Amino acid sequence: MRILVTGGAGYIGSHTVRHLLKHGHTVSVYDNLSRGHSAAVNASILTQGDLLDSARLDHVMATNQIEAVIHFAAFAQVGESTKNPEIYYRNNVVGTISLIEAMKRNKITKMVFSSTCATYGIPTVVPIVEETPQKPINPYGKTKLMVEWILKDMCASHKWSCASLRYFNAAGASPDGDIGEDHSPETHLIPLAIAAAIGKSKPLEIFGNDYPTPDGTCIRDYIHVDDLANAHRLALEKAIPGEHLCLNLGTGKGSSVHEILDAVREVTGHAVPFSIGPRREGDPPALVASSKKAQLRLGWEASHKNIRDIIATAWRWHQSHPDGYKKG
Ligand code: UDP
Repeated sequence: MRILVTGGAGYIGSHTVRHLLKHGHTVSVYDNLSRGHSAAVNASILTQGDLLDSARLDHVMATNQIEAVIHFAAFAQVGESTKNPEIYYRNNVVGTISLIEAMKRNKITKMVFSSTCATYGIPTVVPIVEETPQKPINPYGKTKLMVEWILKDMCASHKWSCASLRYFNAAGASPDGDIGEDHSPETHLIPLAIAAAIGKSKPLEIFGNDYPTPDGTCIRDYIHVDDLANAHRLALEKAIPGEHLCLNLGTGKGSSVHEILDAVREVTGHAVPFSIGPRREGDPPALVASSKKAQLRLGWEASHKNIRDIIATAWRWHQSHPDGYKKG
């Protein structure tokens, strides 16, 4: 298939691009590089452009005879979204409408969309199934849910085939250490814990240890980025006209913040210095996926199930690229 990957220079996008190419697809990347890295993709397939630039989108879709879109391009920081919601609604929602309109003009009817478990808000029951009510508690989650609704309507009205993949915590890096996670500022637990372990940053602040969990810290379901990439490919290959398929993607196993710090110590050989801070606003105590539906519908299953193995790939990326894409 000839696939346009928006946000293909970002963390999950760049791993998906490599995965699609390995599986024989033809890929074009569309990224405004506001958060992505040109070094994460081959320059020959990259077009720098914004989702709101309709003419550029038309051009890239037409010249590359695009047949399907995988849509990652979005802002994805919960804290930032509560401080500046308007930029999230513009970029994530208005930007996606612009993309959908370009797809319609270019007669492209397949999309796999990067959604999130943040659309569920604070679930009362874990593991979370797709039927769990979606009640996002921050603007980021709301923008993703709004796009899910739009895609549902496009499938109903125009027989589009869409999949919204709700990821839990994306983690790890390409096992060869070539591409990985490089956010600025970095807010995610695993890269921050690695940096703290090797003395590159201040001790890690644990956001609350008074949650109703066995060790008091939050539990998350960390899913390897290559497993997410695989799910995107399968969702596209198995898309059914008229269907909006919603799937959770996780390992089904949760790890607490303390368990992550223990695993980082085992992998790196360095204890992670930490302090206990207050809870972070909007953090649910436990988010763990049921991915039974993804298994049933796509034959998908996480291949990296052990948190130490996932962290080992992040550690390898850090060792080969200590300053992310700036050097390495
Ligand atoms: N976390 C933490 N300290 C940090 C960063 C994260 O204690 O400096 C916790 C956070 O409260 C959450 C978990 O680690 O329970 C994962 O957070 P992350 O930001 O990596 O992903 P999120 O769950 O927000 O998508």
